[in-house]
Amino acid sequence: MSLTVPVTALSPHELHATDLDPAVALAEIGRIAVTDLSAWTRAIDEGTYPATLMHRFADAGAFRLHLGGGHALGGAIEGMARISEVCASTGFMAWCQNTLVWYLINSENEAARAKYLAAAATGHVLGGTALSNPMKSFFGIETLKLKGTRVEGGYRVKGVLPWVSNLGPDHFFGCIFAVEGAAPVMALVDCADPAVTLKPCEPFLAMDGTGTYGVQMRDLFVPDDMVLAHDAMPFVKKMRAGFILLQAGMAIGLIRDCIALMREVEEPLGHVNRYLEVQPEQMSETLAALEAEVGALAATPYDDSRDYWRRVVAARLLAGEKSVEAAHNAMLHCGARGYVRASRCQRRLREAYFVAIVTPATKQLKLMLDQMPA
Ligand SMILES: Cc1cc2nc3c(=O)[nH]c(=O)nc-3n(C[C@H](O)[C@H](O)[C@H](O)COP(=O)(O)OP(=O)(O)OC[C@H]3O[C@@H](n4cnc5c(N)ncnc54)[C@H](O)[C@@H]3O)c2cc1C
Repeated sequence: MSLTVPVTALSPHELHATDLDPAVALAEIGRIAVTDLSAWTRAIDEGTYPATLMHRFADAGAFRLHLGGGHALGGAIEGMARISEVCASTGFMAWCQNTLVWYLINSENEAARAKYLAAAATGHVLGGTALSNPMKSFFGIETLKLKGTRVEGGYRVKGVLPWVSNLGPDHFFGCIFAVEGAAPVMALVDCADPAVTLKPCEPFLAMDGTGTYGVQMRDLFVPDDMVLAHDAMPFVKKMRAGFILLQAGMAIGLIRDCIALMREVEEPLGHVNRYLEVQPEQMSETLAALEAEVGALAATPYDDSRDYWRRVVAARLLAGEKSVEAAHNAMLHCGARGYVRASRCQRRLREAYFVAIVTPATKQLKLMLDQMPA
């Protein structure tokens, strides 16, 4: 099921970062989240893809907060935190969209930037990223699932990906394919191409409204103006910290709401909840530390030092672990009230596990830290 309305077009000059006041944009994103999004959380949790809301967040500036200011990511992360505070499925889709924009920001292919950057940053083109498999392949966990061949004016690509989110029949996504005898290539794919099939996934534990599909490509022609990088490895190295840091928005928003849930039951249940090991004050301190670290790292996404990369990976690991811890403790605080189907507490618990398993998953992050020189 999908919910769609036409959107007002923004001209390319309106994209310019100076046209967007981040404080105003964040206030509007937060307002849409606590009003309209909050009314749709159950439907989204049960499988409705909220296209209209994605366009509303786009109009508020949610997908172009990282265009200016040296591409610092703090504003984009805070925007996604405000969305995730209400619904992590929508927060994840905002990450998919912001990551698609991040690829275009970093691409050196002027033709691709000219054609798609403004469209993606304003939400006129919605879409996501199929980088789980490549991110795992770069660390020897699995091999590249897409194979490409160089042809006149582009590449022919085939293969199957099990899960790609924030998709629909007119959406785009970034992917990486192997090329025999050459470096892997990173490119955009148009879901409307007849050589692309979107296959519905079997129901998940949560995130069913995220427009997640299995994607099949049968000799898809990818023209050169959709190539993000003819050599994907240096490109990934340049944008990988941003890819990972942007995910922190989901965790920060979700943890904020778990603390709110604990506080909401202080009045009726505080006399017994105070015996629980984790109290909202502690969780708030943990959150403040995570926000401070993510905020510091988000200021310099192109820092290529080893120390910086280690801190990014460690912060991402903490974000997943603390999301699960916060949701687990919110559940213990809320008790039966949190266990009923209509409660957002049980939804937060299901969503929290996604933060810990989406690529790079907890186990991959631990592998990465283990392989890093001390
Ligand atoms: C709701 C949802 C949305 C996602 N959205 C995206 C996205 O937008 N882009 C993206 O790149 N990735 C997406 N993923 C994949 C995600 O990022 C992780 O790669 C995935 O959760 C598994 O990661 P892992 O490291 O734990 O691998 P593991 O689960 O340990 O292993 C994954 C591998 O096992 C195999 N496998 C296991 N179970 C299945 C199954 N049921 N069907 C098919 N193959 C299976 C596949 O080969 C797969 O590559 C999504 C996953 C989910 C559940």
